[in-house]
Order: sequence, then structure tokens, then C-alpha cells
Amino acid sequence: MARLADVIAAFERRYDPSWAAEWDTVGLVCGDPATDVTRVHFAVDPVEVVAAAAVAAGAQLLVTHHPLFLGGTDSVAATTAKGRVVHQLVTNGAALYVAHTNADVAPADSVSDALAAAVGLTDVRRLDPVAELGLGRLGNLPAPVTLREFADAAAKALPATVWGVRASGDPDRMISTVAVAGGACGDLAEQAAAAGADVLLTSDLKHHRTSEAVADTGIALIDAAHWATEHPWLAVAADLLGRDLADAGTTVECTVSSTVTDPFTLHAHSPGD
Ligand SMILES: [Zn+2]
Repeated sequence: MARLADVIAAFERRYDPSWAAEWDTVGLVCGDPATDVTRVHFAVDPVEVVAAAAVAAGAQLLVTHHPLFLGGTDSVAATTAKGRVVHQLVTNGAALYVAHTNADVAPADSVSDALAAAVGLTDVRRLDPVAELGLGRLGNLPAPVTLREFADAAAKALPATVWGVRASGDPDRMISTVAVAGGACGDLAEQAAAAGADVLLTSDLKHHRTSEAVADTGIALIDAAHWATEHPWLAVAADLLGRDLADAGTTVECTVSSTVTDPFTLHAHSPGD
């Protein structure tokens, strides 16, 4: 057992809140730092189904990657979905803590490090070799494969969503160097191409940016579900926190959400596809 304040202090030694972007909202959302914690539940999204699962799992702390109230709020009344998340957690004695862009840019064990490991990259390094903190990682495949094969492999390696992954570029082009960036990082396409990446695996790609980046730089792009690109980090963070607390002499069980919170729930194939 540990106090919530001690759990947070341990976590923030790995993911310093000061690394978060200026526009971001990270840290403790609700909860009393003096509470005892025996179980921590990790998830990407602080949504109602996740809060319910955390409570059902007996967690006194829910750690999510995405903020609940990005940009602030005037109310936590249970008249909105977000308000109901707060009520569900507080009523059941559970805290909510957010590690967002500070986990994205962490020098080690970042969201993109976890994504790189999930798709089997070796020799993983920062996309920007000069920056101490930064989005995105670059790595190598054990052997070159076609874009089609890498997209298939990524779809199998990432947690399943109804729409899988889609790719932009010649399906038969060879891929050996891969850039990855968890979350919405299509804007890194040019930087990834300049760093020598054959493909950038990220999410939330847009029509014009994708078309232009592929045409201008020759890089291929893979668009996975935003949730799926960030979910691999949960197990990394849960494992680190559990081990750091154990090293400090406290036993806290860390569990990872398997609830799919990708907002897209249906994929209809086009005729002839
Ligand atoms: Zn995200």
C-alpha cells in the first residue's frame, strides 16, 4: 500500500509534468493525496466506461493519457459525460491522474518508445537527435518488407480496432527505416522523411497533408487508430510504476485497461474491396 501522493511522486520521476506542452492539462484531476492506494488502473481515455472499469477493478487511482478537461471547465456536475466520470470516481474513492504530452516527449519510455517496441523496431532513437525531449522515434526493421507487409504487421501488432490501419504510398515500396509517433503526429512527416524514414506510423492523418507529404518527400504514411497508437504505452507505464514502488518497498498492483475507446465503432468495406 502507498499514499496517493507517493504514487504520484514516483510516477512524476518518470514523466515530469513540467515536460508537458503549455496548452496541455496534466496532473491530478480529482482525488485526495493522503488516500491509500493498493491498485492503479491505466487507460488511454478518461471516459465513463473506463471509470466504471477502474472502480470495478478496485482501483483507487485511474491514470489516463488523455486529459479529462483540456482547456478547463466551469462545472463537474453529473449532467455531462465528463461530470459523470468525476462523480463516478469520487463517489467510489478513486482519483484521476493525467500524463499526456509529458509522456509523449519523455526521454525514455515515452508513448512513441512503446509504439516502436510494439511494431518490433530495433536501434530505436529520437526522431530529433538534438532535442532532449521530443515527439517521435526512428527505428529499423529486422529485415526490409513492403509497405503492404508492414501495414499488415502493424495492424496485427497494435490493439485491434474495427478499422485497423490504412496506408498512403506505393504498397510495394520497400520499408526498412520506420518513424513512429503516437497520437496525431502527421505534421512530423517531413521531419521523418528528412531523418531517413521510409514510412511514418501515426494517427489522425488528413487528406491534403497526407497527399502533399507523400508527393513532396516520397515517405509513406500509415494511419492507425489514435487510441491504438497510444495504448502500448499503458503497459510500459504500469510496469515502471509497479517496479519503482516495489523498489521503494511498497506493493501496488498496476492493471491496464483492455476497453477499446477508439470512438469509431464500424467499418464498412466499399463494394469490390
Ligand atoms: Zn492522444
